[in-house]
Amino acid sequence: MATSITRSPGDPSSFQIFRDSPQLRRLRQQLLKDDQSVGFVPTMGALHEGHLSLIRAAACENTNVFISIFVNPTQFGVNEDFSSYPCTWESDIERLEKLNKEFISSGSPTGRISAVFAPTSKVMYPNLPPSSEIDGDGSFVTVTPLSKKLEGESRPVFFRGVATVCMKLFNVTTPDRVYFGQKDFQQTVIIKRMVQDLHVGTEVRVVSTAREVNGLALSSRNAYLGDRRRRAGCTIFRAFKAADEAYRGGKTSRVDILRAAQSVLDRVFAEQQALSPSERYLFEIDYISLADSNTLEELDIVDHIKGAVISAALKMAPLEETVPNEECGLGDGKVFVRLIDNWMLQAEN
Ligand code: AMP
Repeated sequence: MATSITRSPGDPSSFQIFRDSPQLRRLRQQLLKDDQSVGFVPTMGALHEGHLSLIRAAACENTNVFISIFVNPTQFGVNEDFSSYPCTWESDIERLEKLNKEFISSGSPTGRISAVFAPTSKVMYPNLPPSSEIDGDGSFVTVTPLSKKLEGESRPVFFRGVATVCMKLFNVTTPDRVYFGQKDFQQTVIIKRMVQDLHVGTEVRVVSTAREVNGLALSSRNAYLGDRRRRAGCTIFRAFKAADEAYRGGKTSRVDILRAAQSVLDRVFAEQQALSPSERYLFEIDYISLADSNTLEELDIVDHIKGAVISAALKMAPLEETVPNEECGLGDGKVFVRLIDNWMLQAEN
């Protein structure tokens, strides 16, 4: 297997694709000698505008952008959707080439995508088959108690897998800066903590959430929603807006702020229940949290000086009945889709 390929040698928008680490390390060493900087964007592929916004941010601050595309098995629990996670390799690479053309033609002094790292599982986990068991063997990075909260409560191995794979990727790419999306807020808190605690020599940048016009946060898993449930996806966003309004209106107690969000969710749910099974979408709320944005500790009162983060996970139920020609998304509308999102209640300046 070739360990590095360039799809269109000579084309300035082309970049090298690496399947293994030694050649990528060599490129990194050369860039270091040439005094060039590297911004790194880890992804699991199925790229969308949210990913591209991270790459744009990286290109603004670095001469070179490295991107990884790796669906990391250790962050999926045994009953989760690892084997069916969307894989859109060809269109991902085309999107990246197009973006590089955009960088070149803009004429502004932005950086370029120079490497895509798409390793195999064996490259990333050289010694053992990667484990998704909570007590499985392996070399893991754990960041507690942060990784036990929120998403970690229902997905106990998730952040161990995320922190471990990010550490491996940072070790291979040794980036000056790494870019993560606000969309996965808890992940940004855990990566910052890991970088600080383990003295990783990189800066962590957080890029704001890219949303559809109706407020639905872009996500690779949205491909499973289909038209009807995609319309519903803005429900969390509307709930956050109501909470934000309450906060800006002077409410600081947990009860008042979460009540504002909950009442939107309850209203939408009741409206949907009144519809027929071929028209409606139903959902379950996994959690809704109001927490300190550094420690993720739940708050009873929000301190205006510090602000807070409100976050939620909502499980969209499978469609009960479909109508002819309905666009139901990947999986034909038969799979649960778990959506997560968050919103910062801003600190006073
Ligand atoms: P993923 O491929 O889902 O693991 O995401 C890779 C990176 O893209 C993570 O840092 C995510 O937080 C970020 N990301 C995903 N969705 C969005 C979005 N809608 N806006 C901004 N960043 C995002």
